[in-house]
Amino acid sequence: MISEEQALAKILDGIGPLDPETLDLLAACGRFSTANLFATLPLPGFDNSAMDGYAVSSASCHDGARLKVIGTQPAGADLRLTLRAGEAIRIFTGAPMPQGADAVIMQEDVRAGDGWIEAGTGVEPGAFIRRRGSDLCEGQKILHAGDRVNAQTLALLASQGLREIRVGTAARVAVLSTGDELVPPGEPLAPGQIYETNGLMLAALAGKTGARVKHLGIAGDAPETLREKLEAGLQADAMIVSGGVSVGGRDLVKDALQNLGAQLDFWRVAIKPGKPFVFGRRGGCGIFGLPGNPVSSFVTFLQFVRPAILKMMGARDLSLPAFHAVTASELSNPGDRPHYVRGQLAEGKFTPLGLQQSHALFGLSQCNAMVRIAPDATLPAGSSVSALAFEPDIWKSPALLSDSSQRQ
Ligand code: AMP
Ligand code: MG
Repeated sequence: MISEEQALAKILDGIGPLDPETLDLLAACGRFSTANLFATLPLPGFDNSAMDGYAVSSASCHDGARLKVIGTQPAGADLRLTLRAGEAIRIFTGAPMPQGADAVIMQEDVRAGDGWIEAGTGVEPGAFIRRRGSDLCEGQKILHAGDRVNAQTLALLASQGLREIRVGTAARVAVLSTGDELVPPGEPLAPGQIYETNGLMLAALAGKTGARVKHLGIAGDAPETLREKLEAGLQADAMIVSGGVSVGGRDLVKDALQNLGAQLDFWRVAIKPGKPFVFGRRGGCGIFGLPGNPVSSFVTFLQFVRPAILKMMGARDLSLPAFHAVTASELSNPGDRPHYVRGQLAEGKFTPLGLQQSHALFGLSQCNAMVRIAPDATLPAGSSVSALAFEPDIWKSPALLSDSSQRQ
């Protein structure tokens, strides 16, 4: 059995980034930039008005001052107007500032006549002017290599005149569930059978990283069906197979993988829930054998598979977002493996929730975070902890998931 740190290090050593691609900006949303990007245009690009009003010289604009309106500067074309003391130029939001004007007075603050205005207030130099480069300078870094492209960064990239960006490729991830007892939801259950739940959960988790997911369904524990479905999964960049990696007589996944030419790097990690966990490779496919128990599958996905998929796609931040929290009750781990206790994180407080056992799906469904308790440790209520949040990645609708899976 190896430690979680060793397990993650071996996995990340065995996984490299996929070849990048160049995409239109919108298509690149959710992907990771391959390079540091720098501004070539300042923001704003020129001094402009923040208001609809009048461009003035602040020295000649005071309460009661009467100013002659000598022209109009709309947004969209720089008319290169010049203003002298005692004059005003009608101006609109986003319009370039005329020469000689050092402030804008809002239209609400003037009384406008025919060819003149009367100021109802004075203005400070610089009032309501958005200065060139005050938001962003040329040469400033706008995106770090490995940062995810999101809605805001898309807008920022567009502001630089860019139409496309080089990003990591979305990993193709195959998900397979194994077990003779499993029945797909929607079909009748015979005594002793259960509905298959890991496949959907793992497909959704993988999809949230931005990967393209193919749900391969259920393989029974018989070597022939296992072999066929595993071979299909091995065509992907990553295959996640749940169940059948424990020590039971019907836990045939490891053997089946080896028979298919996979090299298994390790089996079993000191983590609770989730000890039976296999990592291996065949060709360009990273293989993740997760325990069948749903909570173990969930936790090992987040700790070991998610970072691997993100690394394949070129992400630089591979860990779950961690939030400082205070524990609402005592948490203790009498065992010899680190225990990830699931619970609710709200307003800086972490409250453990539900049955803390590896099969307890309802308990898990009520939680939004987990906290690592070291072996033999007891944390009294009120302890400071780092809570790992479950919902950090992009949301992909199930429709998008099944649609994109067809590309595989
Ligand atoms: P295994 O790792 O195959 O020994 O399975 C451990 C436990 O997880 C057993 O109770 C299985 O019935 C259950 N299990 C395995 N795979 C799934 C699945 N895909 N959905 C729900 N439960 C599962
Ligand atoms: Mg099984």
